Amino acid sequence: MKPDVILCHYGEIGLKGKNRGYFEKKLQENLRSTLQRFSPETFSSIGRMFGRLIIRLNENGQNELASVKSALKNVCGMVYCAPAISAKQDKETIIKLSVELMSVGGYDSFRVTTRRTDKIFPVSKLKMNEDVGAAILEATGKKVNLKQPDKTCYIDIVDGKAFLYTERIQGQGGLPVGVSGKVMSMLSGGIDSPVASYYIMKRGAAVSFIHFHSVPFTNEASIEKVREMIEKLQVFQQRISLHLVELAPIQKEVMVLTSEKYRIILYRRFMVRIAEKLAKKQRAVALLTGDSLGQVASQTLENMSVIEEAISMPLLRPLIGFDKLEIINKARAIDTYDISILPDQDCCALFVPKHPATKARLKDILSEEKKLKVDEMVQQAVANIKIEQFD
Ligand code: ATP
Ligand code: MG
Repeated sequence: MKPDVILCHYGEIGLKGKNRGYFEKKLQENLRSTLQRFSPETFSSIGRMFGRLIIRLNENGQNELASVKSALKNVCGMVYCAPAISAKQDKETIIKLSVELMSVGGYDSFRVTTRRTDKIFPVSKLKMNEDVGAAILEATGKKVNLKQPDKTCYIDIVDGKAFLYTERIQGQGGLPVGVSGKVMSMLSGGIDSPVASYYIMKRGAAVSFIHFHSVPFTNEASIEKVREMIEKLQVFQQRISLHLVELAPIQKEVMVLTSEKYRIILYRRFMVRIAEKLAKKQRAVALLTGDSLGQVASQTLENMSVIEEAISMPLLRPLIGFDKLEIINKARAIDTYDISILPDQDCCALFVPKHPATKARLKDILSEEKKLKVDEMVQQAVANIKIEQFD
């Protein structure tokens, strides 16, 4: 007996009032594109059904269930999904299939949990739990345990059908990618920024990436790393664009003309200005970084506020209150960690001062910037951006 459908449950998007239809549609699209990419030719349709989405598996999908499940668990906006057997809304049929379903697998105790959305079905959920439970008990000799069962036989009576399943696969939760607008993420090659990007994707933002490099002063390792990270993040968002910016010409000017201890802040102000210009062109509404409070000199409250002063667009920092260890654990979970720790030559590690200012004063930074043709330098960098498309 193989599951022929997968029921996909969402949490919060059910609460979104007027937007609900739009959110459901986005989730439906994202389920489709995820399966098409990571488990192709496994389903015949994805439909909407009373507070859930239903994926109908074809024969290939029924045989390749493991690959379907591992693709689906990355879809943001889905709380859990359940591979299920669909049946007629008929009590005897449900009992027979439930017994069959519960006759496999090693377990000691069980319970039955019925949900009846179709009130037209004549048997109450309590009566179903009792009668199905009694039949399973008789057929298998297992114990009933309502509080902490090893295995649960779920029965959903909905949309003119009955669905039976025993397994729930945890999804990412959150909201479907794309419902919250577009964000421009500053991706460095380190541990933090891919994790920050994941968190904003999970809240429904579609993310585009910008990476600053110092080629030819450095090798191309950091560029190769961000490409690989983006491939990892594609399990959450399939279509991604990466923008590569040459920071070297700006770094040259900054090095020659300004005071050493402000370099990092000055680079960072250039970076956010360039990212903001690009974001506006692409109709992104916010920038994002992997900053976490106090982690390094450029991430003190004082320095973050001086950096932010250079732009007017909101700058999101989803990791601001995270400890390094928490970030590392998440990086492992989304599988970007091993790429992050590969050696590279970070553009900001280049020509860094021994004693960077930890509390830069805006007044001092502004007077340093007077020595530079800031607007021209920003325009030049934006004009030279290279775009790579990940589909
Ligand atoms: P990460 O692990 O993300 O590199 P980090 O701890 O190394 O962070 P910083 O190097 O201070 O911290 O960078 C802080 C944030 O600034 C990064 O999370 C990233 O969002 C942005 N950033 C830094 N360098 C770059 C870069 N070369 N290109 C794009 N964004 C960058
Ligand atoms: Mg870094």
